[in-house]
Amino acid sequence: MLKGRIHSIETMAAVDGPGLRFAVFFQGCPQRCIYCHNPDTWNVLGGEEMTAEEIVKKAVRYKSYFGETGGVTVTGGEPFMQSEFLIELLKKCKEENIHTAVDTCGFYLDDKVKEALSYTDLVMLDIKHTNKESFEKITKQDISRPLAFLDYMKETQKPIWIRQVIVPTLTDSEEQILDLLKLIEGANVKKIELLPYHTLGSSKWEELGLTYELPDISPPTEEIMAKLREIVKNNFKH
Ligand code: SF4
Repeated sequence: MLKGRIHSIETMAAVDGPGLRFAVFFQGCPQRCIYCHNPDTWNVLGGEEMTAEEIVKKAVRYKSYFGETGGVTVTGGEPFMQSEFLIELLKKCKEENIHTAVDTCGFYLDDKVKEALSYTDLVMLDIKHTNKESFEKITKQDISRPLAFLDYMKETQKPIWIRQVIVPTLTDSEEQILDLLKLIEGANVKKIELLPYHTLGSSKWEELGLTYELPDISPPTEEIMAKLREIVKNNFKH
């Protein structure tokens, strides 16, 4: 039976999508974001093996907490890196009538990913930066892949949430937020979440013997966050 490599499960997550979520963290990510707070998910061979059945069986126990809006969120890492397993997991969730969300960096787009998306009710997409050079600096990857993924979102009109981590000196300018709004024009965007960068993951880097590349950057101030959220509020057209 097909097994997935799972980093961890959080049974009552409040910040990983609408309502209360059963969050499944997949192992494996093709990006190497300089502020990643889950570098321990990077290795696709890490974590523990689980079947989709095992995971969904656990999730079903929390169904009564999901209410109208909650459900299962698959995050990571990058869930589409294990797209075949993801298909199985999402399919089983839908059989149980559970709302499904996938939190992604938009790196992959092939037939398997498209099939997984057909069982996904909500995509939470985090394109780390709108500018090619800055994107590369942050992720060590090329921006063309997430742009292709975003195009597919526009084409299919899949409901999406856009998430953007606000990192001082990298993504905290008014211009960046306006560029982001422009980039997502035409997509079926239900919500834009600006998430303040935090340094909580930096100790994991040390534990893994990695050098944290943003040691001197402090989280954005409340004032900056409020200003950027105001820009979204004033310029985001549903
Ligand atoms: S895409 Fe997410 S999990 Fe992957 S390196 Fe970037 S922040 Fe970390």
